[in-house]
Amino acid sequence: MRLIRGHLEAVTRGRSPTGERIGVWFRELESIPDGDLDAVIREARAHHNEACDRGRRWGQITPDDVLAVWRLRRASLSKSSGGSTPPDSLECPLGCESGQVLLVGSDGYDFVTTCSCESGDWWAERSPLWASMTRAGAYLENPAFKLARPKRERMPRTHIDWLEKRAEAVGHRTAMKEYVDHVERSKEGREPVET
Ligand SMILES: [Zn+2]
Repeated sequence: MRLIRGHLEAVTRGRSPTGERIGVWFRELESIPDGDLDAVIREARAHHNEACDRGRRWGQITPDDVLAVWRLRRASLSKSSGGSTPPDSLECPLGCESGQVLLVGSDGYDFVTTCSCESGDWWAERSPLWASMTRAGAYLENPAFKLARPKRERMPRTHIDWLEKRAEAVGHRTAMKEYVDHVERSKEGREPVET
């Protein structure tokens, strides 16, 4: 319920959806397993946005749009082999989250599209809807589009090594606390030194 509510708030630009509307969505989408629901609604929203941009659709996304994505996804998943989770591209120049990027256009609406990296390829291979979408890199060549969130900073490999080693000695919780304290002290982001 909360998930559906969150998505409906996002598509209505933060206005709270009515309980009735949430109820309708909830019932219509009952057949989609909880674990898949978020990804399926995201994909449907992305596709809906793109269709609106091209003038092929208008108005708001409906539960039918979500169900259409679900059917396609099931059909293509049963055909394809390989893992069921997208690879997390550590080298991604856009700092995407598992192949998806949240962009914001000049109209202020945000939308999700596939990344230009190999994690984005993973989505494109699995669904014709994702495959049909303009990739994030191509959008960003147009200055009207920006990343909706700051690029994800990745923890440098040396820091991860340090944390793992330290966690073995003092436990995860303490190691993490030491690390956070250290990073806050050294604003230049020098690597933590072992004591
Ligand atoms: Zn990426």
